[in-house]
Amino acid sequence: MRMRPEILFPLFAPASGLKGVGPKLAPLVEKLAGPLVRDLAFLGPQSLIARRLANVGDAVPGEPQLFTLQINAHLPPQGPGRPYRIRAQDDTGFIFLNWFKGGGPHLARQHPVGSTRIVAGKPERFNTELSIAHPEYMVPPEKAGDVPLKEAVYPATAGVAPRIVRKLALEALARAPHLPEWQDAAWLSRQGWPSWREALERLHSPHSEAELLPTAPGRARLAYDELLAHQLAMASRKAAVRAEPAPVIPHSSLADAAEAALPFALTGAQVRSLSEIRADLGSGQRMSRLVQGDVGSGKTVTAMLAMADVAAANRQSALMAPTEILARQHFETLEKPLADQGIRAVLLTGRDKGAARAEKLRLLYSGEASVAVGTHALFQDEVAFHDLALAIVDEQHRFGVSERQRLQGKGAAVHLLALSATPIPRTLELTVYGDLDVSRLDEKPPGRTPVVTRAVPTTRLGEVVERLRTAVAGGAQAFWICPLVAESELIDATAAEERAGVLRQMLGPAVGLIHGRMPAAEKDAVMAGFVEGRVSVLVATTVVEVGVNVPNASIMVIEHAERFGLAQLHQLRGRVGRGAAASTCLLLYDPPLSAAGTARLETLRDTDDGFLIAEKDLMLRGGGDLMGLKQSGFPDYRLADPVAHRELIQAAADDARLVLARDPKLESPRGKALQVLSALFDWKPGGGWNSAG
Ligand code: ADP
Ligand code: MG
Repeated sequence: MRMRPEILFPLFAPASGLKGVGPKLAPLVEKLAGPLVRDLAFLGPQSLIARRLANVGDAVPGEPQLFTLQINAHLPPQGPGRPYRIRAQDDTGFIFLNWFKGGGPHLARQHPVGSTRIVAGKPERFNTELSIAHPEYMVPPEKAGDVPLKEAVYPATAGVAPRIVRKLALEALARAPHLPEWQDAAWLSRQGWPSWREALERLHSPHSEAELLPTAPGRARLAYDELLAHQLAMASRKAAVRAEPAPVIPHSSLADAAEAALPFALTGAQVRSLSEIRADLGSGQRMSRLVQGDVGSGKTVTAMLAMADVAAANRQSALMAPTEILARQHFETLEKPLADQGIRAVLLTGRDKGAARAEKLRLLYSGEASVAVGTHALFQDEVAFHDLALAIVDEQHRFGVSERQRLQGKGAAVHLLALSATPIPRTLELTVYGDLDVSRLDEKPPGRTPVVTRAVPTTRLGEVVERLRTAVAGGAQAFWICPLVAESELIDATAAEERAGVLRQMLGPAVGLIHGRMPAAEKDAVMAGFVEGRVSVLVATTVVEVGVNVPNASIMVIEHAERFGLAQLHQLRGRVGRGAAASTCLLLYDPPLSAAGTARLETLRDTDDGFLIAEKDLMLRGGGDLMGLKQSGFPDYRLADPVAHRELIQAAADDARLVLARDPKLESPRGKALQVLSALFDWKPGGGWNSAG
């Protein structure tokens, strides 16, 4: 850990030290920007108000304007809830200035009748009356200079008005030192980017809408700084992991035998990914690899063959899944093919108790079992391995960094193989998985019938249920996914309960319900009922893990599909189409559909390629709605935008790699400046800036 360079101290001072930030404001500012002066300095305005000089006679409602008015009369509120009003005028007419809050006699003292005031605000018109509620500025003519014709508008939060944020941000800017240049000079001039200090100044003094765009030179430079700092952090972490010696696991004939015994041939993508994994395992350096591919692309089988190599080397592997149900399914998939090669596997979950559990722990400790499959239970303190060499983490975004590390901590230098069924676009791969090597399973095993996807307006819900009734009578099974109503699991669960109730009335008792608020055992029981076919229609909220394999399920109904992200819809659709029967996915939407909504549903109808869908999803979101991205582990950038700056992401990754290859200890002049950059952004492994002062 390097010391923070002294030159950065002013930026790492607490924001509470800025003028005007008292104990009341400090927590609000922290919530909005962060706890440090640096955080405010990087908080740029979102928009620009351009005020027009206007007369009352030609005032345009809704637009920011600047009037010169004579105060005419003060009209105290005419009852509770009524505004305090000032009547004012110029040569062209009357206008009322209204205060719903903060009005009172002090206004009469500040703005006496007969005085002239420069008043800024957005007028509104009710019938013939023109008014401004809460003028933005109201000053005597000699202070006209205080009212900017162009004003940058800062993000705000309850209790902190944009103008207060602006004042604090400018104060933070004033404390920002000139820093040594860490960017390559040729690159800077090619991009036409200013120095860091100047870029920061431009961030806070936009003169036009164009300067607010993420591609404006100042903003682009700051975004690139952020991306480069992040890429450097990830690249050096990756280099550090690589530098650790790890057991050499050779490609084994045991794994070849397991592969030959499979009832199918590996896809090209599986062969490629497996050879990438084997190159890592055989290198003597620690592997940190992610395999990403759609549900059903064959990740588990690929991982299983790597486990066979590890077992052949007389070492152990552990496969960790986020839920009990998934762990169980993995175990069922792996146990027999491994046992056929003489490899013993155990399943370990939170459910194991007493003697049975003790026996499993013994098998792992003694090394008699070479493979452990399980949940979080795998990294609990009592679990000890004989010689753990490979940790496989399924749905890795569902686990925290520390959980991954705890599992890896069960051995001396454990190789990591992460699996993800959330394909993400290549550009984002660099930001989400920059500290991992990535293999892509971008080819589906042959012989799958594509899922027929249709968008249906909710007005035709009745028909959908009728068709479902017929299908279920013929032995089909269906998922019915309930809308995300709120951020609250309770509300979502209630909506799902209601839907299940309605469907039960129409379809009979074979309608099951599963949601996030049910106890695990109950969820498992419902799920088992669905797997065994006793439940025909499974109503579920998305918080529930439906990542289980139910080959007989051939219908997926998604209510309020317009509220889901593309990638999420794709994930859900992936739950059907796994068996022999032709499958259907019905996307129920609330009409009318927006243009973007239509584009999203059309994309889904037209393709089944998770990588392509992820790419489209990103473009359609335009980087605006980052919720889905955050869920897939996208870092919490403050200056960089995944869409607007996507070309810079690649450049920053290349830059970081080159720098570290040439100057691993960052000792050259540029290297030293880059140390300042790294300290300035101070990336933490979880994916955000460190904010400790
Ligand atoms: P994932 O973990 O990516 O969702 P799995 O490894 O569970 O995918 O594979 C999904 C299904 O496809 C399993 O039933 C598996 O046996 C089968 N499968 C895997 N690879 C192939 C292949 N190359 N050809 C045919 N079927 C395959
Ligand atoms: Mg899987």
